[in-house]
Amino acid sequence: MIQEMTDGELAQCLQKLRLIFEGFKAGGLRDWAYRSQTTRDLIQRAAACQTGEQQLTLISNELTGCTRCRLHSGRTNLVFGEGSAKSGLVFVGEGPGAEEDRQGRPFVGRAGKLLDKMIFAIGFERREVYICNVVKCRPPENRAPQPDEAAACSPFLFRQIEALGPKVICALGLSAAQGLLGNTRPMFQLRGKVHIWRGIPLICTYHPAYLLRSPSQKAAAWQDLKEVLRVLRA
Ligand code: URA
Repeated sequence: MIQEMTDGELAQCLQKLRLIFEGFKAGGLRDWAYRSQTTRDLIQRAAACQTGEQQLTLISNELTGCTRCRLHSGRTNLVFGEGSAKSGLVFVGEGPGAEEDRQGRPFVGRAGKLLDKMIFAIGFERREVYICNVVKCRPPENRAPQPDEAAACSPFLFRQIEALGPKVICALGLSAAQGLLGNTRPMFQLRGKVHIWRGIPLICTYHPAYLLRSPSQKAAAWQDLKEVLRVLRA
């Protein structure tokens, strides 16, 4: 029967199975279900045949109505991320602000306008790169995400990046850089080198909101972006 299913049908089955596993974690059904040979084959084949886009849809569906951390209570819209990784480039920011929360889209406020210019400066349209954040819901008063909030969201961010399979990740600001690299180093130690995140080159630069407050750092950010381009073309 599995052999006769289309890739799309298998992907749908995987989504259903995910929901079952999530819902019955405590009751032991996960083990019972996974022991079945048919179920195991189904999961393995479905996971293997999913395109990056299908995986993104599944991850986004799993986040629907998310209450895994306290940020959900102030949310108008969950901001999953948008764009295309065909360029090979993924930008990761901190978390949605007021305008992003209102629209459900990343970087659409003042900092977003500057990010658009930064993207354009290295030869891309915004829609040609993928943009997402460490946390998908707006932190109150635009504060940085707290460690437990970032930890609740990071499995989804990590799967999202892996589904996109970029050539380069550009971490915008300290929350993104530290969240991805799993350290607490200051920005001056993180900039100026090519890190590796799960086999993918990662370059850290200043957050556009910081650059709006400290325009004198734009020249340094430009050096970072040129490095992003160099690695992308390598
Ligand atoms: N700042 C971020 O880090 N992300 C957004 O989406 C908007 C502002």
